[in-house]
Amino acid sequence: MSETQETSTARAPFNNPDHDIVLRSTDGVDFHHFKLILSLVSPMFDGMFTLPQSKSELAVPVILVPEPSTILYPLLLLSYPSAGADPIFNNIDDASAVLEAARKYQMDAIIYRIGDLVAAQFLPAHPLGVYAVSCLAGWEHHARTAAARSLEIKSLGRPSSEFAGMGAIGAVDYHRLLKYHYECGVAAQAVGESLEWLPSTPYIKRMQMWQCVACRRGPAFGRLAIQIASFGKLTVTPWFEKYLLASRKELANRPCELTLWESAESASYDRAIVKARDCLACQFVAHHELNTFRTFYINEVKKAIAKVNLAS
Ligand SMILES: [Zn+2]
Repeated sequence: MSETQETSTARAPFNNPDHDIVLRSTDGVDFHHFKLILSLVSPMFDGMFTLPQSKSELAVPVILVPEPSTILYPLLLLSYPSAGADPIFNNIDDASAVLEAARKYQMDAIIYRIGDLVAAQFLPAHPLGVYAVSCLAGWEHHARTAAARSLEIKSLGRPSSEFAGMGAIGAVDYHRLLKYHYECGVAAQAVGESLEWLPSTPYIKRMQMWQCVACRRGPAFGRLAIQIASFGKLTVTPWFEKYLLASRKELANRPCELTLWESAESASYDRAIVKARDCLACQFVAHHELNTFRTFYINEVKKAIAKVNLAS
């Protein structure tokens, strides 16, 4: 900023009149602060304050910093005692800029807090952005959480899935995310290959999708025989075959439980219910039976995905 630019005082808690140092942002906002606090949170400021001060001891020294007030405010708030509420970042780019500044000022104690705040604030809507910034910052646990969340993104890696922070992320980190997504897809779609994981209970044995007598007489019956619990290979009804094959394809592209839950995503579910209307015996029970099956299915998909690790 130029000498003639108007300055203003930052909002609380950086408007304390008893301050002994001022940090002036690039947009002319004066942050009233205390040397002691800054020295404790930042070795860089500590070193600066131990240098001999040339100006009059009466005037409060002003340090011009290269950050705008939008970055300086959350940065200083995070390292201020009894600051109260955590700062809210405007977006991931701002959070990254705060992180960068924290590194520059060697404020190690707040770097992990920035990570927790970024994850809490942006994970639901921007898992890829959180992944990118976590890789850059070395927050491996947040990177893993964000990668797990990215499974909800269908066909990750297609040119459509560009995201904020993509420019900053390294190819190795991006590749391990794609690899994780792909491997989860392989694991999730393999769950429906054999249903041996179903519990071997009388209820499971009696389920409509492998016991319907009416479907058995139909022309489309008998294409798919599959292991059911410990009962051996049973031939399934056409509508269930359709469901199983289609849902496996959906899981390969978007390996998460939402794929099976959400009816908008789970075209396989809706189509199977429609197809079940071809059979007089199945049409009224297919919905209930498929719901029951889906509960076990989702549980098994979650277990399969949990076994896949994001490479470090
Ligand atoms: Zn039937």
